Amino acid sequence: MSTGMHGPVVVVGAGHAGGTVAALLRQYGWVGAITLVGAERRAPYQRPPLSKGLMLGKVAPDELQLKPDAFYAERQIALRLGREVLRIDRESRQVHLDGGEFLPYEHLVIATGARLRPLPVPGAGLAGVVSLRTADDAMRLREAVRPGTRVVVVGGGYIGLEAAASARSLGAEVCVLEREDRLMARVASRELAAFVAGYARGQGVAIELGASVVGFDGEAERVRAARLADGRVLPCDLALVGIGVLAEQSLAEQAGLACEDGIVVDEEARTGDPAVSAIGDCTRRPIALFERRARLESVHNAMEQAKQVAARLCGKPQPPAEAPWTWSDQFDLRLQIAGLTTPGDQVVVRGDPEGRAFAIFHLSPEGVLRAVEAVNSPMDFAFARMAIGKRMRTPGERLRDVAIPLKEVAIA
Ligand code: NAP
Repeated sequence: MSTGMHGPVVVVGAGHAGGTVAALLRQYGWVGAITLVGAERRAPYQRPPLSKGLMLGKVAPDELQLKPDAFYAERQIALRLGREVLRIDRESRQVHLDGGEFLPYEHLVIATGARLRPLPVPGAGLAGVVSLRTADDAMRLREAVRPGTRVVVVGGGYIGLEAAASARSLGAEVCVLEREDRLMARVASRELAAFVAGYARGQGVAIELGASVVGFDGEAERVRAARLADGRVLPCDLALVGIGVLAEQSLAEQAGLACEDGIVVDEEARTGDPAVSAIGDCTRRPIALFERRARLESVHNAMEQAKQVAARLCGKPQPPAEAPWTWSDQFDLRLQIAGLTTPGDQVVVRGDPEGRAFAIFHLSPEGVLRAVEAVNSPMDFAFARMAIGKRMRTPGERLRDVAIPLKEVAIA
């Protein structure tokens, strides 16, 4: 680990995690060179609005930048955008870029994020079979979705549901195909998934569960229909595939760093090499509050690990451990989710799902608050997020009673 703060730092990956760590390093006093290398041609930007504001035309790509261009110039953070890192040489502490260039480092931060899980079925290469990961993808979707466009969405996770809501709001006819027997199987409880399915259907989105896409039919090289395993054929003009992501860990693997569905890091984002850290979607990390390891795909995770690295390299105190959290906007629903659920948790609903403002709490068998899923209930969410971080107990029967203010329910 560096103590001098004068050597060069190279950050591979210019997403939310990479952009944040570069900015924080300067803010915390790193004086050496900082170089941020990214495959996209854009400076680091926020991805959450891609399936919402950007797709709906409410914001432009430039408005999503984490920092304006001048920020990087003023702080002497060198951006190498549209560049590919070919190899990390840990022996000589160098990163090899396309075009034969190499960058020496004293410390390397791998922030390579995730790549889309492919859908290897016949017809997946037809025009009109699209995905959504980058601002350019979102701009293309915005162009393609018109009133009356028949959109099939493959995958009922956050991407699929947010994009389905946006497409529906733009007047498209939308059908979500999810192969599990419920929506958001990897990221939310059955109770929240059932509510979201009912709400989306009420907004005119068709949702087919247990529906596995086995291929696409085309005409003149353009998609015309999706084929399901049960033999059904759904005509469509556009098919958006959002079936999850895989950790982008190939550079780390080639460099001999430990990877297990994510680059393995400790609670301060160290890899096994003291000169290399890894942050963001590409990592598998310990989650102190829950005594388990996981790969988290969220803005909060990217920022938390960026802080861990910048603080460690600059000799500042580590940020306190927080409960993981994320959010999702679909139609006029704001979902806010904090903590992690465990099979066997007690589920308590507070508030009125009919009124579209309620929260689902998950308690351990001992009554400790483990997770919250709030729907249009920002106050419940904020309190619960704090309470999860403090491992507070919240008796279920009192939690259910909305007449008792939340702060009186929790027991420290
Ligand atoms: P996801 O949450 O993993 O959901 C993908 C879903 O597609 C899974 O339920 C999966 O089921 C299903 N699926 C897989 N193969 C299928 C097939 N052949 N046919 C039909 N369904 C299939 O991932 P995502 O929604 O694609 O999100 C991608 C990334 O964007 C994640 O990192 C996510 O966190 C991020 N994102 C986050 C937000 C937010 O936080 N608000 C918003 C947008 C995107 P199986 O489990 O059976 O594979």
